[in-house]
Amino acid sequence: GAAPDTRSFEADVAKLLHLMVHSVYSDKDVFLRELVSNAADACEKLRYEALGKPELLGENPEPRILVTLDADRRQLVIEDNGIGMSAAEMTEALGTIARSGTKAFMEQIAASKSGEGGQLIGQFGVGFYSAFMVADHVDVISRRAGAETASLWSSDGLGTYTIGESEGGDWPIRGTRVVLHLKEEAADYTQRFSVEPRIKAQSGHVPVPIFLRENPYAEPLQISDGAALWTRAKSDISEEDYADFYRTNAGQFDSPALTLHYRAEGVHEYNVLAFVPEMRPFDLFDPDRTGRIKLYVRRVFITDEAQILPRYLRFVRGLVDSQDLPLNVSREMIQESPVLSAIQKGVTNRLLSELEKLSQSEPDRYLAIWNNFGAVLKEGLYEDYGRREALLKLARFRTSTSGHEWRSLADYAASLKENQTAVYFAVGTDLERLASSPQLEGFRARGIEVLLLTDQVDSFWAASGIDFDGKPFRSVTQGLSDLGMIPLPEGENSSLETPDDVAAFVDFVKATLGESVSDVRVSDRLTESAVCLVAPDSGMDRQLEKLLASAGQ
Ligand code: ADP
Ligand code: MG
Repeated sequence: GAAPDTRSFEADVAKLLHLMVHSVYSDKDVFLRELVSNAADACEKLRYEALGKPELLGENPEPRILVTLDADRRQLVIEDNGIGMSAAEMTEALGTIARSGTKAFMEQIAASKSGEGGQLIGQFGVGFYSAFMVADHVDVISRRAGAETASLWSSDGLGTYTIGESEGGDWPIRGTRVVLHLKEEAADYTQRFSVEPRIKAQSGHVPVPIFLRENPYAEPLQISDGAALWTRAKSDISEEDYADFYRTNAGQFDSPALTLHYRAEGVHEYNVLAFVPEMRPFDLFDPDRTGRIKLYVRRVFITDEAQILPRYLRFVRGLVDSQDLPLNVSREMIQESPVLSAIQKGVTNRLLSELEKLSQSEPDRYLAIWNNFGAVLKEGLYEDYGRREALLKLARFRTSTSGHEWRSLADYAASLKENQTAVYFAVGTDLERLASSPQLEGFRARGIEVLLLTDQVDSFWAASGIDFDGKPFRSVTQGLSDLGMIPLPEGENSSLETPDDVAAFVDFVKATLGESVSDVRVSDRLTESAVCLVAPDSGMDRQLEKLLASAGQ
């Protein structure tokens, strides 16, 4: 062929490269993710084009990525059998900046103070050019699917590159081979122990199988199966597949109690594969525990810190794979992205509605989930006002009349007594003791159901002015309730008239206790015990008061 052309990079590329080469940023692993992701993209593009032109696949139809280590030459080679590039396409793709993400990145760099550049690089995926973080010379040999010849792009990243037709024998039949001539300090990337775990961790879910060989003569070993389970049709996936994926993806040992797999279409496109575990993780109430939903962009793992679900769903594991987010966006920018907030909203709502559905269709399975995670879900009752109603529908309670059965608020509402206008609850730490508390006597006598709340979180939401179906939640310890309005069963006296000797006794108690109580009243809440302590109607719930006192407030 003709002698290769030498050309200059576009000004922005030159700036970007300069920055990358001179960056002191230590996390250089991003280059592996970027190059593997390009290889996978190329295979995906070919897959699509071959739908119309099957001959493009030739005798080599299975997509694959091959990573070859060469310690003797200090090289790392990443090769794919994807769509490939013509010389013109390489000039365009590897000499200019076409992507909006990179432009935004450049603008940030320009606006940043000197010294911040290195950090910015780490936050952005920086595409193909990140190869120059570890290599002082990069060759790209590529043959467009269906083309007779291959082309060679070559550069030291210092302002110019050469492009020409490649000569010689060992060129790929199709696809792209990227040869990194590693810098001395990056020699570790020729070692399997260093490269294999990084690829598995960063790119284990790209939808193309990845092979690795320790030297150019070694037999390639498959290190990733290329199965992006979540992109497959639900009908092709067995329960066991899901369970396996759950275990490997989440590093768990149990099975999912609920699997949610769907594709959102419309304004934003994304795949969701989420699991509610069967067992309660030991660190569920660890304040540092954050959500465990991974964010992928087009099957490339981006972060598990995108907080896709609210805290009260922190027990859910799995992933979201977005079609719309740019791959090269920083974590900070992802947090602010309207795409992400749409995903957060969509996935949260969907999860709650799936739980609601399960509670209707398979109450026993649902109750197992509630038993494990109800205490966490209830945090949402004061953290997420907008979803209170949905969460109240999910809530299940032990009550003064339910024995060991769980009751929903709908069940509760269906058995309200005449004139009962509130949902009554009692908060404590022990279910048995709570059930036999004197505070409940007046309620028990009237057959009024009382929710027995024994989780720490209950003191917070129950006292937060919440209501269900227009009925306020009222603590049984709070002052005189509307109990007098609710009739006692036949034959029992519900009169509030106070005999003279009782009035005298009340005066005596008031005088004796003095300042230590705000009032002493005759009440019909008790039917067996003589007295009990109550909080004022407008005051703090007694259990919350104790809790705050024990926390030193
Ligand atoms: P991005 O992948 O976000 O487009 P990159 O800098 O990673 O940005 O790559 C730039 C372009 O180079 C790609 O869009 C693609 O057209 C081309 N390219 C890079 N690597 C390959 C490859 N292995 N096979 C085919 N084309 C590639
Ligand atoms: Mg890329």
